Amino acid sequence: MFDFDVSTNYLTGIGPAKAIVLQKEFGIFSANQLLNFFPIKYVDKSKIFTIRELQPSNTEVQLKGVITELKEVKQKRGTRLVGVFKDNTGSIELVWFKVTKWLKSSIKINEPYIIYGKTNCFNGTFSMPHPDLELEANYTKNIISGLQAVYPSTEKMSAKGFNNKVMSKAIQNLLKEAYPYIEETLSNEIMEEYNLLSKREALLYIHFPKNQEYLSRAQKRLKFEEFFFIQMQLIRNKLVRKDKIKGFVFKHVGEYFNSFYKSGLKFDLTNAQKRVLKEIRADMSTGAHMNRLLQGDVGAGKTIVALLTILIALDNGFQTAMLAPTEILATQHFQAVTELVAPFNITVKLLTGSTRIKERRVIHQALEDGSLQILIGTHAILEDKVQFKNLGLAVIDEQHRFGVAQRSKMWMKNTLPPHILIMTATPIPRTLAMSAYGDLDVSVIDELPPGRKAIQTVHRFDSSRLRVFKFMRDEVAKGRQVYVVYPLIEESEAMDYKDLQDGYESIQREFPLPEYRISIVHGKMKPADKEFEMQRFVKGETQIMVATTVIEVGVNVPNASVMIIESAERFGLSQLHQLRGRVGRGADQSYCILMSGVKLSNDSKTRLETMVRTSDGFEIAEVDLKLRGPGNLMGTQQSGVLNLKIADLVRDSKELHMARNKAVEVLTEDPNLALSKNIAMKRMYQQIHKRTSIWANIS
Ligand code: ADP
Ligand code: MG
Repeated sequence: MFDFDVSTNYLTGIGPAKAIVLQKEFGIFSANQLLNFFPIKYVDKSKIFTIRELQPSNTEVQLKGVITELKEVKQKRGTRLVGVFKDNTGSIELVWFKVTKWLKSSIKINEPYIIYGKTNCFNGTFSMPHPDLELEANYTKNIISGLQAVYPSTEKMSAKGFNNKVMSKAIQNLLKEAYPYIEETLSNEIMEEYNLLSKREALLYIHFPKNQEYLSRAQKRLKFEEFFFIQMQLIRNKLVRKDKIKGFVFKHVGEYFNSFYKSGLKFDLTNAQKRVLKEIRADMSTGAHMNRLLQGDVGAGKTIVALLTILIALDNGFQTAMLAPTEILATQHFQAVTELVAPFNITVKLLTGSTRIKERRVIHQALEDGSLQILIGTHAILEDKVQFKNLGLAVIDEQHRFGVAQRSKMWMKNTLPPHILIMTATPIPRTLAMSAYGDLDVSVIDELPPGRKAIQTVHRFDSSRLRVFKFMRDEVAKGRQVYVVYPLIEESEAMDYKDLQDGYESIQREFPLPEYRISIVHGKMKPADKEFEMQRFVKGETQIMVATTVIEVGVNVPNASVMIIESAERFGLSQLHQLRGRVGRGADQSYCILMSGVKLSNDSKTRLETMVRTSDGFEIAEVDLKLRGPGNLMGTQQSGVLNLKIADLVRDSKELHMARNKAVEVLTEDPNLALSKNIAMKRMYQQIHKRTSIWANIS
């Protein structure tokens, strides 16, 4: 037997001092953790260079030769150790900036070494700082491996002589002892189906790959496994939630829904809207709790789906709430909904930070006695004072502004949690949706209402500004309205406001009264003033709206057909996409002009090119994920996708899909992993379950 939980302290080649370093630097306590401490890269040690072959551009090389001299050189701070290393073709300098006793005593003069490291070239002379040294005699005795694993290392480790070689040796010893006892974690069926290495082999070859092919197979196996068990967890969570968390049953589709559908809808729903509505209806009628994410690009028509969902709740005698991230947006929803339901005798109220106390009292009262049916508002709805009689459904718009904590706050308002419908216009790449939101249900409106014209997007440098002004004038002459948006990034707030003011003034000069009227909206204005200016633009009293990104989310002005984004290189992709979505809402051809300086980083270039090339939100989201990594995208923090040890959400999407499908398949057939063929997976599952608290509600 081998005890995988044994402290690394007891492993050959580690000992107490190194064990403490492993704990402190990497949180590695046990043999098992060390086995799963994966290399950060591999270097090809099949080639040994000669010194004459060295090029200034060489990064890491392996050389064979002898150290002929070693001397300590005093410096201002501390001492440096310098060695002369020779082969038949020349010599280079070896340099150690940190001299330890261990180091000095271990180096042997005039014995053949294989050395490895990065070379520097200064005035034609090569040197190698902190080389890895290995006596040639020992070199051949080690596991022969074309590819040498390189492990993460820190200064504290080097200071203790705990270099890559020592690490590699310790893992080699560990593998020798533990190998026969490493347990399989996947079923034979799965390994055969995907032609995966066994767990044992995978661990051996991830540390000591014979060649590139073995390495790839080891990686494939371990990545699959990593994704697979995350997916098992997410999917089981979902099943458990559906099973355990009861929700209100919305049995009927009644008067409100039907009469609105017949006479309130001014257009036919798109097929995508119909499909999504079916999914929602099915969800809410089961007795399980709905927790559904509704994705749809800007303009896809999420609001109407939300409203129809609300009407189903009303038909079943429940109250509903709709949350928006900003006051402007809440107000807009309120106006739209009020207008739509006006003929149907439904009560709707708006609650935001600026709602007057008197009005608040009326709202609180009507919520508590159940007479208020739809409450629309901002975060203000989440305050403790706001109590519903029977809240059955909460719709949350643009959820990236609301955290999970706030979502769960809605739950506290009831005995049973209301059904939750989260709407987001920021498309989430499928890979991320699968992992970050694997335990939510997702509906996608992947079709725009008919008759929308594609928005024409161009990128212009600041030097073309006059031509852009001319274009604006032409569009305004046609009766269109124009947005001009400035970035507002917090660290440089003062400067950003100056940019905004300068821009506003130059636009005022270009577009003088009385012919032109201009609105300005930014975050430093009082909500009432913002609202006033927005309304002027919405009503068409002003033709140009100069703004910061406060208009980013949701504002609907169908007559606005030009979006000019200043310093577009400073915006993120999803923000650019959101902003562009403000136009193209009416029947006219719309335009988006991305203004930038000429100096652009590669990432900025990619962002701008992507915007010009496509308006497909999902494609844009994929590029965004590639550029920024999952860490910066919403929802990832809670999901564990950031703690992936070996797999990569972007690069390994194939493995993710495989693992996801397989996990669904396995759990559908055998939800409790009770079948004997699944025993290995059950064991692993329970181990992980013990280790992590997020597995807490799994039986
Ligand atoms: P978003 O998904 O961005 O919230 P909205 O719900 O604001 O989109 O809808 C955008 C516009 O499209 C609105 O003016 C809405 O009335 C209109 N709309 C929604 N669905 C349809 C449809 N099926 N046919 C035509 N117009 C629609
Ligand atoms: Mg919307």
